[in-house]
Amino acid sequence: MTVDQQGQHSDQQASGETRPAAVHQDGIGHPDELERLWTPYRISYIRGENKPADASTEKCPFCRIPSMADDAGLLVHRGELCFVVLNLYPYAPGHVMVCPYRHIANFVDTTVDEAAEMAALTKRAVETLGRVSSPAGFNIGMNQGVAGGAGIAAHLHQHVVPRWIGDQNFMPIIGRTRTLPELLGDTRQLLADAWA
Ligand SMILES: [Zn+2]
Repeated sequence: MTVDQQGQHSDQQASGETRPAAVHQDGIGHPDELERLWTPYRISYIRGENKPADASTEKCPFCRIPSMADDAGLLVHRGELCFVVLNLYPYAPGHVMVCPYRHIANFVDTTVDEAAEMAALTKRAVETLGRVSSPAGFNIGMNQGVAGGAGIAAHLHQHVVPRWIGDQNFMPIIGRTRTLPELLGDTRQLLADAWA
């Protein structure tokens, strides 16, 4: 993906045909020998798209998702008090979030039953992802508040991120061979089928 001076996107990269192996840029900094993660789909997240400008429930994606069809909302499972949804901007393939239906910001605001169902669905997500994609590890947790790194701070959500040794290396390959919407739709179907 490139952005011209008018901010227009050229999405040739998404087709997987024109990704340059290396681009010379006159930047500044020191080589740190770290590999860079090619994540063009995260630009809309970084630009704040699909992010509520205020904390109202009407603008909140986590409040809107349960009213959508499963495939359109990337819903994996609908529980009684909480639901499981794929992250539209995944850190890794299979990155899901467990959210209460209620628009609450803080973990301490959950009822005993909501907290119990969040825990149960988190366990089930780990178990399902383990069965489907055999990750070598997981990141599990909540970022609470803007200072805590929450992208959508107004509505509590728990991340479950499957991890593989060296997983940053194959994400660009997946991104190149298939477009992301296809990948997310397939991943959702796979997890929803495996959930039961
Ligand atoms: Zn909400």
